[in-house]
Amino acid sequence: MLKLESLVFNPFAENTYVVYDNDTQECVIIDPGCDTVGAENQLFGFIDSHRLKPILAINTHGHLDHIIGNPAVKQKYGIPVAAHPNVKADFQRSKQQSLLFGIPFKGECELPDRWLSDGEVIKVGNSTLEVISTPGHAEGSISLYAQMEGWVFTGDALFCRSIGRTDFAGGNYETLRTSIKERLFRLPDDTEVFSGHGETTTIFDEQRYNMFI
Ligand SMILES: [Zn+2]
Ligand SMILES: [Zn+2]
Repeated sequence: MLKLESLVFNPFAENTYVVYDNDTQECVIIDPGCDTVGAENQLFGFIDSHRLKPILAINTHGHLDHIIGNPAVKQKYGIPVAAHPNVKADFQRSKQQSLLFGIPFKGECELPDRWLSDGEVIKVGNSTLEVISTPGHAEGSISLYAQMEGWVFTGDALFCRSIGRTDFAGGNYETLRTSIKERLFRLPDDTEVFSGHGETTTIFDEQRYNMFI
């Protein structure tokens, strides 16, 4: 079974998740948002003190707050970054945005090293993360479903009682609504939802109380 640690980074209060298998010590880093040396030390400190072996970083989408830590993580652990191919335009825009917000990338804002497709299954130790395509907040947005654990990482598609903004480039409200209703709401009711910002919720609670869908 997987375990997880959530850390909150950068001016956007973005959730970075370390998902790890306690038996094999393998771990993946979902949305590395560390933007300062202090934030990097917090992330690396957790990973190293638990003797975890990072195998992959995954970006749920290409917005700056979810990818700003990619270069640091790649440099520290020599691991590839994976994302959906449709994130390319957002990656290209993120470079400009990082300068605008005054949180420059360490090194280059490189495109991901590995492309993920809908339905693909990523092995983490003895568990798995399944890629579920959930566009609408951004192009190439994905969610990651850990079936055995009953967890889904939704990036900025679905939040506790809210949904992602759709007014950024590549965003579309109807697309997002369809992603949530037809992909996320088909997961078991008791699935725990770990979002890109804010607190944890469940699929059941969002089906019932989320007024945006
Ligand atoms: Zn976003
Ligand atoms: Zn975000």
